[in-house]
Amino acid sequence: MKQRNHLITRTICYFSLIGLVSLLFSACTSAPDKKNPTPAISYDDIPEGYLDEAEHIPDFWIASVEGINTYLETRVKKGKVETAGTSAGGRPIFAVSYGEKRIGAGTTTFSGSLAVSDLVPYRGADNEKTVYMGLGGVHGFELESIMGTINMIEVFETGKDLSGKARPELAAMLDSVDRIVLIPLVNPDGRSRVPIRMEPDRGGASGSFTVHEYLNTGGKKDGSIIGWPDVKEFIPMDFSEVGFPGGYPNDAGVNIMHDDFFGSPQPETKMLFDLAAREKPDLIINMHTGVPKNNYYMHILRPFTEPKLQPIFDALYRNIKIALTDNKLQGSMDTTIEADPSLRRMGGYNLNTALNLHCGALCVVIESPSHGYFGTNLSGDPAMQTPEMLLDAQLIAHQEALRFLIKSGGRAGWDKHAIQ
Ligand SMILES: [Zn+2]
Repeated sequence: MKQRNHLITRTICYFSLIGLVSLLFSACTSAPDKKNPTPAISYDDIPEGYLDEAEHIPDFWIASVEGINTYLETRVKKGKVETAGTSAGGRPIFAVSYGEKRIGAGTTTFSGSLAVSDLVPYRGADNEKTVYMGLGGVHGFELESIMGTINMIEVFETGKDLSGKARPELAAMLDSVDRIVLIPLVNPDGRSRVPIRMEPDRGGASGSFTVHEYLNTGGKKDGSIIGWPDVKEFIPMDFSEVGFPGGYPNDAGVNIMHDDFFGSPQPETKMLFDLAAREKPDLIINMHTGVPKNNYYMHILRPFTEPKLQPIFDALYRNIKIALTDNKLQGSMDTTIEADPSLRRMGGYNLNTALNLHCGALCVVIESPSHGYFGTNLSGDPAMQTPEMLLDAQLIAHQEALRFLIKSGGRAGWDKHAIQ
């Protein structure tokens, strides 16, 4: 018995030792490298030439993880740079904020406030403050959104964008809105996965969008694109099943526009929820790249959101689209077509819906054309999009969204007045 006990003790010790060694071994071999925790991605299946980079990249085109981080570290003085969260792959996600934060101290949830038809018990005594939030890079390789957000920050810092163009109207909006929170890159995992700073312009031929679509939505093992919307059939995406996962998902394979919002949201989504709960923004502009090739200009998508916010969306839509049209950044000069919100049907349930129901913000996706190819207008004429035009459209859209927020008084104003 004694001997048996000894044997059991020795056996336990032996297995404990094996356990310890294997634990140490696994810790040494499979723990994510904090500097580069991305799951192993093979670039071998990517067709030749797809990762070619533009020969001349304008100075204002800051859209790489390193470029963004260096910019935020060295150039932001007026704004406050904070780590808002950490991606599934362990990368920091930075937010830049200006102005006075809502102090809040409400007594109920957003849902509770709807039941009593009064937002004050949710947002607190400073309900009337106006708070704007801008998101870039929710899809990691939609570079226009990232470049636009960085240039907006530069305008708030210096009065000029990074091309040197003065933007006094946009810069002055810092004084009229109470709070602005900008996240240039929500999905650093997706951005890190696509190792180029800017695509070459592949022109307007019929297949010229293919490379961009491949790098964005991912590619199959045979080199063909997964494509939109088919890519949404597998969330999370199993990276071992595809040739290249593209820039949509985070390192857990999740496209956060379609996260498991009520189940187990990803860290990027959780970060946005927490930030939105703290800031209680009135308006969130969620910048993306992706417009149809036959109407190759900035589009504003109608969100699936609270019915009472639909007329507010209409007014926001008109304001931004009239400004884009006046600046020759739409397909015609006819604002009765370009700025008619009734032509924009409602989209499906996604991150914008979730953020709206989480904090009451009107959350809107704006889609940009891509710098990597061009399309046509509705008459079939070529619609070229230079990097300078794309920058202009980004800053005008943000500016008009801010102007709308200021003049309408934000959600507190929307509840009180008819909005034009
Ligand atoms: Zn997108």
